[in-house]
Amino acid sequence: PVVTGAEIIDKPNITYDDIGGLSKQMLELREAVEDPLNRPELYKKVGIEPPKGVLLVGPPGTGKTLMAKAVANATKATFIRLVGSELVQKYIGEGARLVRELFELAKEKAPSIVFIDELDSVGAKRADVATSGDREVQRTLMQLLSELDGFTPTGDVKIIGATNRPDILDDALLRPGRFDRIIEVGLPDVEGRQQIFKIHLAHMNVSKKVDPKKLAEATEGVSGAEIKSICTEAGMLAIRADRDIVMPEDFDAAREKVLDTDRNKVKAPP
Ligand code: ATP
Repeated sequence: PVVTGAEIIDKPNITYDDIGGLSKQMLELREAVEDPLNRPELYKKVGIEPPKGVLLVGPPGTGKTLMAKAVANATKATFIRLVGSELVQKYIGEGARLVRELFELAKEKAPSIVFIDELDSVGAKRADVATSGDREVQRTLMQLLSELDGFTPTGDVKIIGATNRPDILDDALLRPGRFDRIIEVGLPDVEGRQQIFKIHLAHMNVSKKVDPKKLAEATEGVSGAEIKSICTEAGMLAIRADRDIVMPEDFDAAREKVLDTDRNKVKAPP
């Protein structure tokens, strides 16, 4: 089927080495998704069924998509990503059909990993969707639930959901046999931030004076995505200064700029 509204990558080029911090979370994700695909005998021998769907819970930009892509890479699985808000806003009236076609495609291209970002957009509790589009959202959710129920946990289609609003999710989604394993993906701690800086600095021409440890210590509360922005911004400041090497002061200015912009984003309008 021709499926619109989804990103389909035969084998994403993200590996575990591209992910900073999150080692505990990666272990849990690999146990739940990679082992059943690559070493199904582990589950068979013990006599248990692997989890069907895994839910990654945490703030934006913390690496949830990266994690799903890296597992797809490690299992040679097709990576199929759909975004909840797009399903219900961009393709109005088509949500349920898209979900059905997507799962058909996932079976065709198996092994595959279906990654549903912003799951809360299609999976909010009934009381929270009392607006005009709610019947459409309901239909899309019902289709998703029926797809989840329609395949076996031992098969080679795996589902990973992501949300930063687990509190508004419909309980139906969290029942056993659906998204029954939850992995918390929080903001990185200082160690995590240092690793993330190292990953992004590795591609850059930086002065020896740039110290990932110091950068990590000065960026409390910052997400992986923001760390990437800081690195990009620092590089652009070097270009503006006619240098091809990025200096510590570029990172200082970049950090202020990125954090300022981000804080303004959440500030209430005057
Ligand atoms: P959202 O919920 O907004 O979709 P997300 O949690 O899926 O966010 P990603 O899309 O995985 O976040 O991260 C965005 C970008 O930020 C990544 O492509 C990567 O460059 C950087 N990044 C985020 N987290 C990490 C991390 N833990 N290690 C390395 N890079 C990271």
